[in-house]
Parts: sequence; structure tokens; C-alpha cells
Amino acid sequence: MSPSHPSPATAPSDEPRPAPSTRVLVLNSGSSSVKYQLLDMGDGSRLAAGLVERIGERTSLLRHTPLAAGGGTRERTGPVADHDAALKAMAEELAADGLGLDSPELVAIGHRVVHGGKRFTEPTVVDDRVLAEIERLIPVAPLHNPANLTGIRTAMALRPDLPQVAVFDTAFHTTMPEAAARYAIDVKTADEHRIRRYGFHGTSHAYVSRATARLLGRAPEEVNVIVLHLGNGASASAVRGGRCVDTSMGLTPLEGLVMGTRSGDMDPAVIFHLMRVGGMSADDIDTLLNKKSGLVGLCGDNDMREIRRRIDEGDEQAKLAFDIYIHRLKKYIGAYYAVLGRVDAVAFTAGVGENAAPVREAAVAGLEGLGLAVDGERNAVRGGEPRLISPEGARVAVAVVPTDEEMEIARQTYALVGKNN
Ligand code: AMP
Repeated sequence: MSPSHPSPATAPSDEPRPAPSTRVLVLNSGSSSVKYQLLDMGDGSRLAAGLVERIGERTSLLRHTPLAAGGGTRERTGPVADHDAALKAMAEELAADGLGLDSPELVAIGHRVVHGGKRFTEPTVVDDRVLAEIERLIPVAPLHNPANLTGIRTAMALRPDLPQVAVFDTAFHTTMPEAAARYAIDVKTADEHRIRRYGFHGTSHAYVSRATARLLGRAPEEVNVIVLHLGNGASASAVRGGRCVDTSMGLTPLEGLVMGTRSGDMDPAVIFHLMRVGGMSADDIDTLLNKKSGLVGLCGDNDMREIRRRIDEGDEQAKLAFDIYIHRLKKYIGAYYAVLGRVDAVAFTAGVGENAAPVREAAVAGLEGLGLAVDGERNAVRGGEPRLISPEGARVAVAVVPTDEEMEIARQTYALVGKNN
């Protein structure tokens, strides 16, 4: 095994000094896919990135980009039977670039875990008790936690000696006060079934709220930010002095904003109505609200680019879907303004938030009374860096802040285990 880049340290003696252990592998394991990135926390660089898709099918695809070594993306197709095979294929690709999992420079593996319940408020080194607790949370995260667990167990088997760190999507939201986290339902029933608002996309909200403070040249503790994570899934959060005080997703990622395929907020009685009058089962309604609602339910498309294109051609259905999306978004901006009392910045992030200027413009249109406005020219600028889009001297900064969940998982992982290396 040879390190891929020379050690920056010059040893005083003839003894070769080991390279500092600063690398973190980040794994995001879904039920049929694994996304990965290898980052060097010594200089914050990204060494490699890739994904394995359609695990368990005959036509699995591995796509690997060796960012540090240069060279183009490599692709492999063929059957990848399970997560074990997927991680082994990933390890082979990394090893081909001199970045193998046996490298002494690898300090830890950071895992995205969707649901950490109330208990996991911080990134946590995984042991048997942590595994059991993540397993115990499967009833509230049936789609995600099982796959996340498989990823962790597989990585543990590959490198049993290496710390594996779970970074929870819910953790950033555990600072929400009870007044924001509890639903107004019978307390005993709620507690028995662990029903409360947990929130999701927390790693993104944490990263973006901090990056927004940096953009303003202030400490996170000093600023209040409304973060609008608008991707295919979408959520808003109110962040006071670096701590989340409210967020739009709830027990599951179904609550809140209008999303690509999810309804977001609605009267819960719609569900009983569909059962009693529509003759639908709980599973039917689950599919309806999670997969066939939101933008796709309203107009047949969930991609904002396509919706804008249709609006430009005069499509009324696409226009109504857009208007419903914006109306909900604006309601949350207003609500979180009231929750925070004082707002220093509104930050747009994720696929729609980072790229769709018309969404940003429409979301704050008419909110000048709250100090919110978007400058047309600034809003039209495209780019991968955090940037202000509010007019010069605006009372509240409006910003586009690209999210980077992998970097945040690596940062939290390294902060937990990297110091002693
Ligand atoms: P994400 O879940 O963060 O990857 O966001 C995916 C969504 O971002 C897609 O479904 C699109 O609706 C949206 N998106 C991506 N690129 C653009 C773009 N250039 N303009 C408008 N929307 C975009």
C-alpha cells in the first residue's frame, strides 16, 4: 500500500513518519444504492466520489470519480448482489487510485443515518448498543434505517478496527423546544408510539446555517437564519444562534412544504376520508401522499426545470402547481419569521433552491415589509459558491448557499475521532 500523496511532514530522524490520518470515508447507504465520498480533512479536499446503484439487480452500476488523482469517471455494470459486494467494488476502485480502505490515512467511516430519534443528539461512534438503538427506531423510519444499518454493518466487517461514526439527519433538530416538537394529540398515545416532530435534512440545515453565518462574516451564535432546503424532498428550518428551533418535517419527511412527490401539510382528516369514502387502504394512501402527490400529483412533473418550461409555454396546470408550491413556501417563511422574531438571513439550498431563480424570486415577492427582497441581477447569477442575492444594504440577507452533506458528515466524524490521530 502506498499513500497517494506525499506526507507534508519532514521527519527529524531517518525513521519514516506515518502519514497523518486525516481521511474520512462518507457512506450514504440506501436500500438499493450506496453513495460514497472520500475526503481529506487535513485540507478539506475531496479525493474520490462515486455511487453503486441498483444493488441486487442484474444491471447494477458503479460510477467512480477519482477527484484527487484526476482522470475521468469510471463506470462498471454487472450484477452487484448486495451491500457487501457493493462496498467491496467501491474498495477496489479506491484501491486502484492508491486510496484503498487499508490505508493508514483513513481515520474513520462516517455514515448517514436518517433517524436517530430523541436519543441521538450528536454524531456517535457505533458499537453494539448504538446498532441496537438504530434498529429500535426502524418502526419510525422503515424505509431508511434498515438500509443505513446494513451499510454500517458491512463497513464494520470490512474494517472492524476503524471507528464507524453515525451522523443522524435528525440530530440537528433535537434542540427544538417541546412547544415546536410536540403534536397537539393525547400525550400518553404520543409517548407510547414515540410520535413527535423529529425533522430531517438536519445535516444540510446545520451546514447551510453555519455557511450562511460565514457568508455574513459573523459567528453562527450571533445570527438567526431561515434555511430553505428545496430539493426533490424539501424542508424549512428556523435556526436561532446556530440551534434549530423549528423545522417543517415531522415524524416522517412527509410533513411541511410541497415537495417533488410528497404532499407536505394537509388536514389529517383527508386520510380518514380516503379510507372511509374512497375505500383506500393505509398502504394506498401512504403511496399516494409520498409518491404521487406534491408537484408530480399537481401537474405530472416533479422537476422544476420542466415545470418552468411548461409555464413559459402557457401551461395552466404547471402554473397552478408552481403557485401552490410558492404559497406554501411563503407561509413557512412568514411562520419562521414569527418564530425567530429577528431574522438575519434567509438561505436557499439544494437542487431547486440553488438553481431555480424564479422560485427564489417568487418566494420573497411582496415581503419587502419584512425586509426581504431579491435583486434581479444577483439572483440570475449561477455558481457553486455561497452568494448574496438581496439588494445592497438590505435589512435581511437573502442568500444562495450550496449544501454539502458529505462534507458536513466528514467534518462531524473527524471532529469526533480525528483529534487523537
Ligand atoms: P435534490 O433533491 O437536491 O438533488 O434536487 C433535485 C431537484 O432539483 C430536481 O428534481 C429539480 O426539480 C431541481 N433542479 C435541479 N437542477 C435545476 C435547475 N437547473 N433549475 C431548476 N430546478 C432544478
